[in-house]
Amino acid sequence: MDLLLFGPPGAGKGTQAKLLIEELGIPQLSTGDMMRAERASGSDLGKRFAEYMTQGLLVPDELVLELMEKVLSSDAAAKGAIFDGFPRTAPQAEALDAILAKLGRKIDRVVAIEVDLNVIIDRVTGRRVCKSCGQTYHLRYDPPPSDGVCTACGGEIYQRADDTEEKVRTRDSEYQAKTSAVLEHYDAKGVVVRIDGVGELPEVTDRIRAAIASK
Ligand code: AMP
Repeated sequence: MDLLLFGPPGAGKGTQAKLLIEELGIPQLSTGDMMRAERASGSDLGKRFAEYMTQGLLVPDELVLELMEKVLSSDAAAKGAIFDGFPRTAPQAEALDAILAKLGRKIDRVVAIEVDLNVIIDRVTGRRVCKSCGQTYHLRYDPPPSDGVCTACGGEIYQRADDTEEKVRTRDSEYQAKTSAVLEHYDAKGVVVRIDGVGELPEVTDRIRAAIASK
């Protein structure tokens, strides 16, 4: 199964994807996580990603697609994937459909997680993340340990440089300007189900399960 978790930055795509990996038996493919790993490696490609990411802007399609083609041609996602943060533009959606079609696959379901911008700002500015495994915490709702060491893997917990209110607003503008077209693209194929992304984590996970099972 190929599932796309869609929504604005801070909608909970990454958190929910991690909760569904085991149950669905397919990996999470997060372009944001992959790009941060590439940056951490100090590679030239990582430096090019950083130019855009630190400003809250979208990375150009050709760089994103180079990264995604590599992953999709590997065995890692041979049985399907949970796409998180990709595709983010109409050309990325078209390219993804073409890559999947070559593999005899298609996006089976798009779950669009709807969350108000004020809620997103609260969530994202309080978010803390493990540098090693990507586990997320929130200063008020799920506080990280005071020693800053990840409870899941022992890695270092930090605040992403793009998780400030100013950057969230820029990222939201990018989302409105370029990413909302992805929803129209998949709406036309009849695979989109919209859900309310506000509530306790397990409630939202249940809504996603229902959206996957519907139709
Ligand atoms: P995320 O972790 O999904 O919030 O992504 C963080 C940042 O990585 C975004 O603000 C973009 O700069 C970049 N990024 C991640 N995925 C994509 C994508 N599919 N297309 C363009 N830029 C992306």
